[in-house]
Amino acid sequence: MNAPADLPSESLAGPLARRRAVSVRVGKVRVGGDAPVVVQSMTNTDTADIDATVAQVAALARAGSELVRITVDRDEAAAAVPFIKEKLLARRINVPLIGDFHYIGHKLLTDHPACAEALDKYRINPGNVGFGEKRDRQFATLIELAIRYDKPVRIGVNWGSLDQDLLTRLMDENAASATPISAAAVMREAICQSAILSAKLAESIGLPRDKIILSAKVSNVQDLIAVYRDLARRSDHCLHLGLTEAGMGTKGIVASSAAMGILLQEGIGDTIRVSLTPEPNGDRTREVQVAQELLQTMGFRAFLPIVAACPGCGRTTSTVFQELASRIQEDIRTSMPVWRERYPGVEALKVAVMGCIVNGPGESKHADIGISLPGTGETPAAPVFIDGKKAVTLRGPQIADDFRKLVDDYIEKRFGLGHKAESPEAAE
Ligand code: SF4
Repeated sequence: MNAPADLPSESLAGPLARRRAVSVRVGKVRVGGDAPVVVQSMTNTDTADIDATVAQVAALARAGSELVRITVDRDEAAAAVPFIKEKLLARRINVPLIGDFHYIGHKLLTDHPACAEALDKYRINPGNVGFGEKRDRQFATLIELAIRYDKPVRIGVNWGSLDQDLLTRLMDENAASATPISAAAVMREAICQSAILSAKLAESIGLPRDKIILSAKVSNVQDLIAVYRDLARRSDHCLHLGLTEAGMGTKGIVASSAAMGILLQEGIGDTIRVSLTPEPNGDRTREVQVAQELLQTMGFRAFLPIVAACPGCGRTTSTVFQELASRIQEDIRTSMPVWRERYPGVEALKVAVMGCIVNGPGESKHADIGISLPGTGETPAAPVFIDGKKAVTLRGPQIADDFRKLVDDYIEKRFGLGHKAESPEAAE
């Protein structure tokens, strides 16, 4: 199949060079420039509920979110922010906090200086800072506050709250044009212009370029790709990527991955969020996990060891290997907060859990440690391969526990502090 005409052909061969955006520091995290793509997330607690928000920010940070956004929608929420920050720091969680402001951000930040100080970044939506002549004044106030408190700002355009004056003007101009473009194209142009013109206005007020991040979120995959390609071509500002209203479950994951995967492959995007609608009382950290897996499967970052598992087929009529693969994956995820400290580099580990002899030994040999479980009718033995060589054969009902122990031993031996000399690379 041929590549679409406007897709650079190199993108089929591998990641293109990252677009070099202006670098922005958000708290302790650097975004843009040559920094790796940063994962962020957002809470869905009432920010005025300090304990609930602290607990969710902590969970998101523990899951690997490098920036966390919280809603600041009223006085009670703004008043809670410094206490949330303080409680997080008391738990030694220093994840940068971003305040999400709409309509009255200028007032909340003015009336709550401790909130303005505690936040590490302000997210403002140029379509929601005010209307008529108040719009520019309130936008200017927000920018002046960011300058006063030395905070970066994300100018986050969203097609659901697009600046209607700008859209109407562009629609009118298009209607009068001899060569009109589609309404969807005008909408995309309005989104881009809103972001770029707002950034120019912020810079004219005095906010340095290295304090500005742009985003332009839409809910349609093709529109998102088109808008960000355009934005990346027309601006060197740092870009936050995200598909808004991505949806629930598989639909949200697929839509976000398809859209952001293409843009990241083209070198576009300095920070990402996967906006999943959680199930009622669902796990909010799922969006962090998906963002990490997107970056890791594309080869841009490594967050946690990869478990390769075959899909299973008619040769595996028991659920042993699914259970083992799932258990190893879950163990790795829950162990990572400790492993990150204790075993530097462990995120590069590759584990294979395979269902039968057809591809089992081959795949296992390519992993650092892999097991080939017996398929239906095969001898009830499970060879384990370590660093490409058959190390041991496991038998009996304790195979899962025995393999888990072998994985633990391998990690300790290869990544444990003081055992570096025994890593395969060091031994070569
Ligand atoms: S490795 Fe064996 S069980 Fe797994 S998919 Fe291939 S043939 Fe089926």
